[in-house]
Amino acid sequence: MKDKAKIAVSACLLGQRVRYDGKEKKHKLIVEVFLNQLSDKVEFIPFCPEVAIGLGIPRPKIQVVKSDTKKNNKEQIRVLGVENHRLDVTEPLISYAETFLQQHPDIKAFIVKSKSPSCGFLSTPLFEASLEGSYKQIDFTSGMFVQSLLKLKPELQIIEESQLTSEYACLSFLKSI
Ligand code: SF4
Repeated sequence: MKDKAKIAVSACLLGQRVRYDGKEKKHKLIVEVFLNQLSDKVEFIPFCPEVAIGLGIPRPKIQVVKSDTKKNNKEQIRVLGVENHRLDVTEPLISYAETFLQQHPDIKAFIVKSKSPSCGFLSTPLFEASLEGSYKQIDFTSGMFVQSLLKLKPELQIIEESQLTSEYACLSFLKSI
């Protein structure tokens, strides 16, 4: 019998109450197609980087910020608390990506939550401190967990839930793995 395709999935999309506000973001189509119709072909591995690094539920909101301090002459991207800018979870999110890939070396694909500072894939707001001290959005980027995954393993297939809008889109993603 052929092995099931292992797909890592942001846990909030499966209905787990792991978001910063203690809520979930269950994606009914993903659950219906992959877990109900294709359960003999697919195994989901849920993950939540922010819970895994010990931020807890509920937790302070975080955001991706272009830092004005430079390292090796390069601008730095950090993940900081929205209210408390001293909360910096950049390194823990990077290390968790390493740990996750070590624990699951056979995972080739991820379904991730859009816009998240940890899980987003090219849809996450990127902020910069303005002269008045507030933060303004300057661009979009990926969440730090996803950025780190791709640095370690560029060949990973990563898709956001916002692109899985039909059964056909889900099946096409599965075929591409
Ligand atoms: S988007 Fe990612 S970090 Fe945020 S709750 Fe969902 S799984 Fe956790």
